[in-house]
Amino acid sequence: MAAVDVRTGRELPEAVRDFIAGAGVLVIDGEERPRSSDGGVFTTVDPATEEVLAEIPQATAEDVAEAIAAAKAAHDDGRWRLLDPGKRASALLKVSDALKRASKDLAWIDTLDHGKSLRLSTGELIAASNTFRYFAGVVDKPSGVVIPSREGRFIYTDREPVGVCAQIIPWNFPLLMAAWKLAPALAFGNTAVLKPAEQTPLSALWLVRILRDAGVPDGVVNLVQGVGEVTGQAMITHPDVDKIAFTGSTEIGRHIARAAADNLTKVTLELGGKSPNIVFDDVDLDRVARRAAFACFYNAGEVCTAGTRLLVNANVHDELVSKVTAAAESTKVLPGWFEDAGMGPLVSDEQLQRVSGYVDIAKDEGAELITGGGRPDGLDAGYFFEPTIFDGVSPGMRIAQEEVFGPVLAVQTFEDEDEAVALANDVSYGLAAGVWTSDHGRAHRVASKLQAGTVWVNTWGELDEVASFGGFKDSGIGRELGPHAVEAYTQPKTVRMAT
Ligand code: ADP
Repeated sequence: MAAVDVRTGRELPEAVRDFIAGAGVLVIDGEERPRSSDGGVFTTVDPATEEVLAEIPQATAEDVAEAIAAAKAAHDDGRWRLLDPGKRASALLKVSDALKRASKDLAWIDTLDHGKSLRLSTGELIAASNTFRYFAGVVDKPSGVVIPSREGRFIYTDREPVGVCAQIIPWNFPLLMAAWKLAPALAFGNTAVLKPAEQTPLSALWLVRILRDAGVPDGVVNLVQGVGEVTGQAMITHPDVDKIAFTGSTEIGRHIARAAADNLTKVTLELGGKSPNIVFDDVDLDRVARRAAFACFYNAGEVCTAGTRLLVNANVHDELVSKVTAAAESTKVLPGWFEDAGMGPLVSDEQLQRVSGYVDIAKDEGAELITGGGRPDGLDAGYFFEPTIFDGVSPGMRIAQEEVFGPVLAVQTFEDEDEAVALANDVSYGLAAGVWTSDHGRAHRVASKLQAGTVWVNTWGELDEVASFGGFKDSGIGRELGPHAVEAYTQPKTVRMAT
């Protein structure tokens, strides 16, 4: 039965209310613990109403050490990695199915905790489910090769799990990021300690319970909660962690790389971006305008691959900018449970201050505010912000160089292909880029010159488990998902036998 909240008008399924009421736990060695070792807690807030959703125990260094010890014991005794591969694959398939079955209720969790619309939460759930299905498929596939050698010698390689993986994720796609971390780690036989972002701790618990019910043994996946400086810091400095998989800001990524160096812990880092979306003059501007708005305003711009720099051929600049502006202005900014919500709130007050701060900086530096720039009218509570566009942005401006992580688009203009490529690459990041043109030769030429881990041609934003993902330059180290996930979550062993 759904209960109607008088103030917001939303109908919250009872299963969701019950889940949130009991979500204040850590999961260590299969045990749900409602209290951290020192009794410390933090709260998570609904960014659309600013109401506290739940109080969560904050894992101390002692709790983290216990979680890592549980993951290490589970790795060492082989309760997961040595299980029949067919059984491991079938457990992951059960997870995939269970995510889909839970989608009506589970979608609510990230809508309440992060602010995104129910439509987006549901899409992410399906993507999370697909990720488990894809990685179930790699569990029992060949993992090594035989290397030709001289008579009397037999050389082969195998790929072994790395071991205990500390997995630290951000708040922009809470459930999907948990799936992107856990599914490959488990598929390749690792054990894990997962820490969601402190802004969005809830949905990972639902997933961890699904994993338990699907038959993943206790201790294989442990869930800790807490702020980065305390809980995350304890994870990245622990000597029994074999691998750190991190998605978040470039600043914290650098910090993690330094900490990892001390213990020579392996790392994959998926970090920030300032992705260029290059539009040549030979395209359908209506279609491109809609996609360019989507590229920047999707998920309130809280996306590492967001297309935050629109690079436009000078001769179509005015027409394209006016169409993208119309798309921005027609985006409905509303709490995520409204059916027509085009954009929900930002995740937190801190994020709202950050985005507003960048709007002030852009104005001070001389960029021209075309639309947005503040809170939308008629929303009294919540961290809402309008889709915002700055024109006349030059490469030296901070709005052209730094990641805002909000719905702020910077428009730059180019005269020819070489200038477009030079502008696109003129940032420290290299996560994603887009090219719009009907000239196939140009599409290939430009794609080959762009310094980005993912390049979209005549589309934007498609990202899923089948293709590898990661960044050039300051956008990260290593690749996740797709054919390269095996490198992130296994280590090769060479066996040379005298026969
Ligand atoms: P943002 O600035 O967008 O919140 P962060 O990079 O700070 O992104 O956070 C991403 C994740 O990294 C979160 O789970 C956060 O708790 C974690 N984190 C932040 N600081 C540290 C740290 N010193 N050590 C480990 N994890 C951290």
